[in-house]
Order: sequence, then C-alpha cells, then structure tokens
Amino acid sequence: MAGSPLPQSFSGPSWLAQVCRTGPARICAVSFEQPKTFFIETFGCQMNFHDSEKVAGSLVSQGYRQVQSIEDADLIFYNTCSIRDKAEQKVFHRLAEFKRLQKLGKKFAVIGCVAQQEGERIFERAPHVSLVAGSASYRNLPEMLVQIGRGERATGLDDRNTDETFETEFTARTNPHRGYITIIEGCDKFCAYCVVPYTRGRERSRTSSSVLEEARRIADSGLTEIQLLGQNVNSYRDPLAKCTFAGLLAEVGQVPGIRRVRFMTSHPRHFTREIVEAIDSVPMLCDHVHLPVQSGSSRVLSAMAREYTREQYLERIAWIRAAKHRSISLTTDIIVGFPGETADEFEQTMTLLEEVQFDAVFSFKYSPRPNTPAIAMENAIPEEEKVRRLAVLNDCQREIQRANYMRHVGQVLEVMVEGYQPARNQVTGRTSQNTTLNFTVPEGLAVPKVGSYAQVSVLRSHPNSLAGEMAAPPVCCTA
Ligand code: SAM
Ligand code: SF4
Repeated sequence: MAGSPLPQSFSGPSWLAQVCRTGPARICAVSFEQPKTFFIETFGCQMNFHDSEKVAGSLVSQGYRQVQSIEDADLIFYNTCSIRDKAEQKVFHRLAEFKRLQKLGKKFAVIGCVAQQEGERIFERAPHVSLVAGSASYRNLPEMLVQIGRGERATGLDDRNTDETFETEFTARTNPHRGYITIIEGCDKFCAYCVVPYTRGRERSRTSSSVLEEARRIADSGLTEIQLLGQNVNSYRDPLAKCTFAGLLAEVGQVPGIRRVRFMTSHPRHFTREIVEAIDSVPMLCDHVHLPVQSGSSRVLSAMAREYTREQYLERIAWIRAAKHRSISLTTDIIVGFPGETADEFEQTMTLLEEVQFDAVFSFKYSPRPNTPAIAMENAIPEEEKVRRLAVLNDCQREIQRANYMRHVGQVLEVMVEGYQPARNQVTGRTSQNTTLNFTVPEGLAVPKVGSYAQVSVLRSHPNSLAGEMAAPPVCCTA
C-alpha cells in the first residue's frame, strides 16, 4: 500500500491497510490500545461517498476503528443528502430508528447537506444526536470528536465561507478499483432550484500540487483509475495558478501507473475546447463527458440561472463530437417540470434529446427545495404532469440508448474488471466510455482479477449494458 508504513506496534485489523496517507503522517500520536469504533451510513452523490471516505480516514487518524455494522459501533455517522424529495423527513425518520440504540451507549453524528440545512433543529427533534456538521466543517472533526468525547454537543455549521478545503491526512479507499480525488468543493452558481450552494458553501479549489500528490499516492497503492470530483470540476482554479482544469486533467493522466482518468461533473458554462483537446491527446483520459443540460429551452435555462443557452450547450456538444481521435460518450442530467415550463418548452428538451443522442440521461422531476429561489416561483407544474413528462422523456431516451448500444456490437473494447459473479460465470466491467460490459471467459483462460484490463468482443446489447466474451488474456493492472 501507499503512504507511510503503519507503526511497528500496530496490530489492528487488516482493513486499515486500505487507508492511504494523503498528507504528512501524525498517526504516531494515536493510541491503538482500545480504539473506539465507528460506522458511517452514506446517502447521495459520489461526492458524499468520497466525503465519507475522508471522514473515515480522519477518524482513523484520531485512533478510531471503522466497523461494518451499527451494532459494533460506538459512534454512528449518518452522511445525508438533501438534493431532492423529502430528504429531511427521511433523515428524521432514520434518526428515530437510531434512538433505541442510545441506551447501549452509542453516540450519533449527522453530517452532510441535511445537517447543514437543518442545523441545530436536529438536536431539538432528535436529542440523542451529539454532532451536527456540514461538509465545509469536516476539517474540524478532530476538535468536534474531543467535544463529544467530553459529553458535550458539537456543531460545525458556520464554516461555509472558508477558503479551506477538507484535506485529511488519511483517506479510507473503499472502492477496490477506483480512487476518488476532490479537486474543488462547494458551488458559487446558485442555480434557482439547487440547495448545494447553501449546504456545501462557496467554491474553493485545491492546489494542483496537492491533487497530483494524491494521484501519485493512489497510483502507488496499485489503483489504476482515478476520478476527479467536484460539483463543477471545470470551474477549477488552481490557487497557485499553475494550471487550468484541462492542464490538471492532462497531468493526472500522466501520473505513472494511472491508466484511466474520469471527472464529474462538468458545468456547460465553463466547458472549453481545451478540455476536449486534452481528452483527444492524452490516452489515459476516458472517452466520457457528463455535461448536465437540465433543459432544452433557453427561457427555462435562464429562469434556472444556468448561465448558458440551448445554442451554447449545442456548440459545446459540437466541440466534443469533433474530437479527432476519440469517440467521446455523452451523458447528461435533465429536470422536467421546472416552475413555468410550458408544453412547448418541454418539447424543446425532447428535441435536444433527439439532436444530441446521449448515451445516458439522469432525469428528475423538479423538486422544490428549501431556501432556493425556485420554491417561490409561480406556475408550479402539477405532480401528475411532471410524472407524465418524465415518462415521455424516459421512453424516448430508452430508444436512443438502445440504438447507441447496438452500435457497439461487433467491436472489441477494453474493459476494466470490477467484479465476478461465479453463479453466472460472468465478469463485470466498464469501458472507457463508462458503459457496463459484462463478459464470459473462454474455456482455458483464467478469470481476470478485479482492477485488471481485458479486451472484450461485444456480442449483444441490453437496455443499460453490453455483453460479450473476453477476446484476449487480461492485462494485469500493474503491467
Ligand atoms: N453541478 C452539477 C451541474 O450543475 O450540472 C449538478 C450537481 S447536482 C448535485 C446533480 C443533479 O441533481 C443536477 O444536475 C440536477 O439535474 C439535479 N437536481 C438538483 N436540484 C434539483 C431539484 N431541486 N429538483 C430536481 N433535480 C435536481
Ligand atoms: Fe447545484 Fe447549479 Fe451548483 Fe450544479 S451548478 S451544484 S446544479 S447550484
């Protein structure tokens, strides 16, 4: 594994071997005699899951030990998401379920977007909770842990204007084949429907040198795929002005040992030709761009405060399609039923779908969110109409996807192996374009290991995946 060697006296569990050091070591300060245990339950986006990896690393550096069940934990973290639906109610419902565990001496921490949004109201409605913190405060977790250790309540809710990012000394890598790196936190865009700027705070980028250092550690640990994360990765600005986002992509792609680099999510407003040029010229950058459009109507985009028009979005699609050496897969997010969206404006989203022919669409019914401007907008679309529009959109996309996937039949694609299902004798994997490609292994050839790469002949296409047979022996991840 990468990072500093564990202390000689360490006799802890083997899972700790997955914790990679991401900064100067302080682990020698930790007592391993009777570590307190913690469990983290996570909801929401990839950023939340990666935040949980960092929170886990931070707790480990304070001498805590991660366990895989609530029953075994002294401290239970609940990492929440409030992007859609009745997230708050779900959180309070789950916290009520936790209450019965209080008499066993367990403590509870609520973190993430609902924690930031509801703040100290959480203590009122769930008095058994000891810690409430939004993501901008995670760097203060060590102090907060000391407070709750003294039997006090701890909050981390006032840090959203910070310039600091959450760079922990340790990150628990829970994905066996991909290392995640946050390059930018928060969001300054304030789209009219979105809670993120209120819950995650202002936009702040990490230095490119610290990102590259983490990429090298991930490569040293044996992982060959990296995903750069941010609410808007392409708003990235190196605080030391050493490189642009496209430059950073290219540099991460050139870290020895790294074979695949992905990034999520890009905002159309800041999507440049330079990003396409980087993908086109650096083979390690994956053939995939996720570029959320939200609506095909310029009027709705303006009401959403998205800062681009339909035409500008399509211009960026044209840049991506014009890549000389790569066939770049495109995916998007769409919201239907934004307040005031007319039948004609919804139809414009449908024509955009037909025009772009995305490989996948993450479609959502507009969900009113507290504190956002859209909640006060007139002409709310009735629920039944949102449901109808969503179904129309999904039906159309299903057909587009079917045709797109069919085009891969007959091709030989490189797959990174993600798992093996012995019952079905099927290897699961993912192409550079981020498509799931499951395959069988011809008799006489060894089943490839998780994290290795195989060439696969595509034989069939399904609605959300491809199926094939391994065409050549696997290439080891460290080859
Ligand atoms: N930063 C990314 C961007 O601007 O494109 C998106 C990040 S957001 C966490 C993920 C997706 O959730 C958005 O692209 C949007 O489609 C969806 N979303 C956010 N707020 C929503 C809301 N109030 N109702 C429905 N969908 C929403
Ligand atoms: Fe939310 Fe808009 Fe920021 Fe994306 S850009 S996180 S949708 S406010």
